[in-house]
Amino acid sequence: MPAILDVYEKQGIRNGHPSNIMTGPAFKTELATAYPECRLVVTKETMTVEAMIKIVYDLLKDKLNISKITFSSGVNKASEEYTPTGTKARCPLCGIALDENGVCPKCGYKHK
Ligand SMILES: [Zn+2]
Repeated sequence: MPAILDVYEKQGIRNGHPSNIMTGPAFKTELATAYPECRLVVTKETMTVEAMIKIVYDLLKDKLNISKITFSSGVNKASEEYTPTGTKARCPLCGIALDENGVCPKCGYKHK
């Protein structure tokens, strides 16, 4: 990995082109690790549409109630359906799921 990141460094693109300095969030899951400063995501599996679905589901499953994900790349297309894990109570201010006590972990809003 460091060798690959070094290539980005040498090419002078490690921190993005001056006209594009926006970076995505850094994340690390069992399936994928993101290096936002290099616009790079390293994945454990071969980058098939099926693998994309798995990675995206893994990243978002705690934030969203996902019922279906579809990915297409050229002629390849895959679709996966999920059973949403119930309707979670959400903070009306932040939109994120409340914890087991009905409290928003972000802003402290308490469900009455
Ligand atoms: Zn909140």
